[in-house]
Amino acid sequence: MEQAEFYKNLLDNLSEGVYFVDKERKINYWNKSAQRITGYAESEVLGKRCSDNILMHINEKGQNLCGGLCPLAEGISRNRNCNKEIFLYHKDGHRIPVSVHVTPIRNEKGGVIGAVEVFSDNSDKMIAIQRAQELQQIAFLDPLTGIGNRRYTEITLRAKLDELKRYKWSFGVIFADIDNFKKVNDTHGHDIGDEILKMVSKTMASALRSFDFLGRWGGEEFVAIVVNLDKKELYGIAEKLRHLVGQSGLKLQKENLTVTISSGAVLARSDDTISSLIKRADKLMYQSKTNGRNRVTMDK
Ligand code: GH3
Ligand code: MG
Ligand code: MG
Repeated sequence: MEQAEFYKNLLDNLSEGVYFVDKERKINYWNKSAQRITGYAESEVLGKRCSDNILMHINEKGQNLCGGLCPLAEGISRNRNCNKEIFLYHKDGHRIPVSVHVTPIRNEKGGVIGAVEVFSDNSDKMIAIQRAQELQQIAFLDPLTGIGNRRYTEITLRAKLDELKRYKWSFGVIFADIDNFKKVNDTHGHDIGDEILKMVSKTMASALRSFDFLGRWGGEEFVAIVVNLDKKELYGIAEKLRHLVGQSGLKLQKENLTVTISSGAVLARSDDTISSLIKRADKLMYQSKTNGRNRVTMDK
């Protein structure tokens, strides 16, 4: 690859918009991101002067900058770098907030022969989308384990119950509680207890199918929602989770710390509510505890 082509590729692949102007502010290079951010193709801007009002830069007071206050003009006339937060015009008509950095281009003698402007999309829309995603995470995910929190588990149960009533799509609930977890905390400390919670969540979540769901119901209690299955298959999945958790371990200095789970598994009925479903599963889990722990209990 020729050197010029190499640099052109490099510039085209930057996420920032980049364009070069000569001393008269005539645009002689326009990269792909500049097109993406502004909507103007290379062919529409090459040879034009930026003072021809293509991008119609304005500042936050609405003042038009292309007449004189333009960061490029400032960079060129004062022979220095210039950074500004401004608004440019998108070809479709809307305004986009951008951060602009202008650097003069100099000849060997240090005289200014043009400038390069690098600009990046600052739009609030992006920030708003990012913020909504963060809020969604806070609202629905358990911060320790990264799996669904109790609210998300309830929302999912509600949706599955609606599907069962309307379409007769079957699903089961596995209510799992870590055995003797208090002892783990008492012996190894709360932080190690937290690591165990993460390990159990990871093991269970990765053993489920992509269309199933795992949530943290409370302290060391988990709810798995498994869809489209009969009683025998539900038992099989609950047993698989129990075996896998029992055979996972947290490597400590002196030992491999392991835990077991006790579960109750139920198939949902069309007259179930979230509360009746969880209550039935929890009662069966409790039977697993009284029968010696590390086991799955289902209705006869
Ligand atoms: P069982 O086999 O009957 O379930 O006994 P257990 O010790 O697991 O049950 P118990 O309900 O007595 O104890 C649950 C413990 O879980 C007590 C609580 O301190 C601990 N726990 C709850 N949430 C967290 C957490 O987020 N991190 C840690 N490290 N421990 C937690
Ligand atoms: Mg418990
Ligand atoms: Mg427990």
